[in-house]
Amino acid sequence: MKHKNIKLIITLLIFIITISIIFNTNKKSSKITDSSTKFEKIPIANKTVTVQWNENSPKVTIQNNYIANFILDVDNNCYNINLTVNVINDSNDTWNEIYFRDYPSAFSDKENGKVSEITNLHDTQTNTSLELIKNEDPTVFSVKLASPLLPNELTSISFDYKAYVPYLNARYGYQTINNNSKDFYLANCIPILCPYENGKFQYYPYFAVGECFYSKMANYDVTVTIPKSYTLIATGDNTEITNINDNLIKYKYTANVVRDFVIVAGENYEIFSKDVDNIKINCYFHKGEIEKANEALNLATETFTKMNSRLGKYPYKQFSIVECEMEMLGMEYPQVILISTSAEGVGSSIHEIIHQWFYNIIGNNQYTSAWIDESITTYLTNPGLDQYTGIITQPYNEFENDSDYSTAMYFYGASFYNKLEEKYGTSKINSFMNELLENYAYKEISTPELVKLLQKYYGTNNSIIKKYIEEKYL
Ligand SMILES: [Zn+2]
Repeated sequence: MKHKNIKLIITLLIFIITISIIFNTNKKSSKITDSSTKFEKIPIANKTVTVQWNENSPKVTIQNNYIANFILDVDNNCYNINLTVNVINDSNDTWNEIYFRDYPSAFSDKENGKVSEITNLHDTQTNTSLELIKNEDPTVFSVKLASPLLPNELTSISFDYKAYVPYLNARYGYQTINNNSKDFYLANCIPILCPYENGKFQYYPYFAVGECFYSKMANYDVTVTIPKSYTLIATGDNTEITNINDNLIKYKYTANVVRDFVIVAGENYEIFSKDVDNIKINCYFHKGEIEKANEALNLATETFTKMNSRLGKYPYKQFSIVECEMEMLGMEYPQVILISTSAEGVGSSIHEIIHQWFYNIIGNNQYTSAWIDESITTYLTNPGLDQYTGIITQPYNEFENDSDYSTAMYFYGASFYNKLEEKYGTSKINSFMNELLENYAYKEISTPELVKLLQKYYGTNNSIIKKYIEEKYL
């Protein structure tokens, strides 16, 4: 017994000495790493914003930041951005490169369109140049990082970006209004990070008919310089205005916790505003369109009032509806919707407003799972639309053509939710939508996650669900 005790004490002593040596070594080496890090790298002054949908929701902290200095050249139909992007590795993998979308390069075959130019790419902490890798898809590029980015680590890169605006009646393009003034519709105009999921950065082919976008929440601080004769509309809040000279003016915008940043500039806009539930609704219509503007304000008032009470209050202070000379009826962006000048344009604003909850507040991959935002939005826009049946969960590329894709997303999708409401009641579907927002606001949801929540409310063997959702998800 005694002998055993001595042996135990000696063993313990050796163990303690060994452990203390390891700790000391670690301390020394960590000190060396710290001081060398400080010496080589300038710390990143990064903004973090924490949001919470309601008291039962998880808190979500947004750490990716885009700091952009945007200058629009209205004479040459192009713009320059000096862009700094602070990126946190939100995965469990180490990143050697990061991927961006450059949607303006999708328009290089259109009149005045060209592939964008990226120069002066560097790491802002060390000021070292970084390698730009162009993908075979012109709307994708990657940046080789100066050193591997570990999980939860932050890096900051910067570059100059020049993009060209095509003459196109689309969400990205410029148009001539009344023969004497110009509009610039600049959706997806700032290069944006690809989300990293399932071991890779996610990007999908661009297409013009529907939506192929997917991005995570970020904070934007953007200055936009334009001629004084132009009205500027953008995501976020205008926090500062600076006179540059007799012709140019600079607007500073801050947009926290948004999925993208859209800019519209036009010489012929009039603004009509109204406060609804402490949200400032701005309608920008071309001069002389007072009737349409009033109709849009009324629809927006009605829609925000209804959806604030049914889904939960819209959490931003500003919202803008912008009339655009474009082929598609309407398109949703964070805090801004674009609607066409056509007769149905104003009516489409109801659908695009509801997308603020399902696309912006809750995000989804709009290429692989467009049904997530489109079907629920169309259901909320069109009560009673219930006569269509068919599968809605396929990715875009699995549809025969654009018409089949649209029929499924909008008509089958709205019918799916309307049938659930008709059979099981409004109160149940409201509870389902409230839990959806409570759990996923400011985050992204996938098809398996949404199906799981539907099954929680409507059962795992539900005959309606089986008619619309692919079997592999059930
Ligand atoms: Zn839609």
